[in-house]
Amino acid sequence: MKDPIGGTSRVGSKGRNLEDLRRQNLSTVLSLVHANRSMTRADLTHATGLNRSTVATIVTELESLDLVTVSQPVDTKRVGRPSTVIGPSPRHIAVAVHPDKDAIAIGVVAMGGRVLREFRFDVEHAPSAVHTVNTLHALVRGLELSDGGTVLGIGIGVPGLVGARDGVVRVAPHLDWRDEPLVDMVASATGLPTWAANDATCAVVAEGQFGQGVDEENVVYLNGGAGGIGGGVIVGGQLLSGENGYSGELGHMLVNSDGGLCHCGAIGCLETEVNRDDLLGVVGLGDAEANLLEQRLRDAYGTDQDVTELVDRQLTYLGVAMRNIVNIFNPGVIVLGGFLGALRNATDARLQDDVERSALAGPASEVRIVSSTLEDNVLIGAGELVFRTILRDPTSASTGIMPGAERVAAG
Ligand SMILES: [Zn+2]
Repeated sequence: MKDPIGGTSRVGSKGRNLEDLRRQNLSTVLSLVHANRSMTRADLTHATGLNRSTVATIVTELESLDLVTVSQPVDTKRVGRPSTVIGPSPRHIAVAVHPDKDAIAIGVVAMGGRVLREFRFDVEHAPSAVHTVNTLHALVRGLELSDGGTVLGIGIGVPGLVGARDGVVRVAPHLDWRDEPLVDMVASATGLPTWAANDATCAVVAEGQFGQGVDEENVVYLNGGAGGIGGGVIVGGQLLSGENGYSGELGHMLVNSDGGLCHCGAIGCLETEVNRDDLLGVVGLGDAEANLLEQRLRDAYGTDQDVTELVDRQLTYLGVAMRNIVNIFNPGVIVLGGFLGALRNATDARLQDDVERSALAGPASEVRIVSSTLEDNVLIGAGELVFRTILRDPTSASTGIMPGAERVAAG
């Protein structure tokens, strides 16, 4: 079972006491229901290798903890008795937050990676950390008053470097944040367990669990946004974190030694050579029309000279980055989000062909290059930061106290 943010649970082995075994089995079954969004009891029995009565007991306990719902299938094509369907309960929720330069997005996320409600607070200027915390605090208080569900905690996807050990946002260049103790600020204001990570890190977790990286153990995500290019990497089913959560900054990979000056101080980073504003400009679109970019590029690529030259140039540098990624990580899939997905879709198989031609033959033959289709992958991934505690120990739901729920960040 893939567990990109750590803590894979397995059915217990000899020598464990019964209580440990029970918790492990609860964790295994809940993690399966969460990852698959709904499963029949027969499929759970098959997937866990446990016997039918044990699975039934576990499901009953999870239902009593309000963590799963149990229903009869409406229609079944299978021979024999219909099996009951187990789904994640919407009663335990995470509040997920994504502050960005043009808006603060806040989602109410349920297990199974479902965004139940989404709030978008547009801002004229990049929000400060205090502004973000106050907005979040007001919304969480409103949720507690109006809804009987349990808020397990808060997960934040930040467009910047977040320290995994202390939850401090070291730098978020497009928000103009430096050394903001965000996790402590949010936890103090709301009284809720809080986690934070880089936004592309959240996105790769969501893609690995519910998106284009399902069934893949090695996933690289590259997002092209207004502010630049972010990345996240899953290797062998585990999120690549680095010494303090800073790994995966693929946007600052050198792709052109004659390139432009990056805000990070270096020359020729991927995000200086491949950027959204130039693409929007060449097809005559404004910031707010980025959703039209793919179609405009598709219409003009190959017929309009300026568009074709710019797209070819950006594809060349993106291809250099992808060659490096393929040779270094040997991923099964590279998922492109934002304008990078638009660039790929508008030029059909060009990127895949480039990588197959330029990367080492072994890893080049293994990789699929696809575009993200998972809406809200940052919010869903931020929710995953919160859910991992209850997935590891579902009995923590009964006490309302989250074990290990110190104010921590996740890398
Ligand atoms: Zn840079």
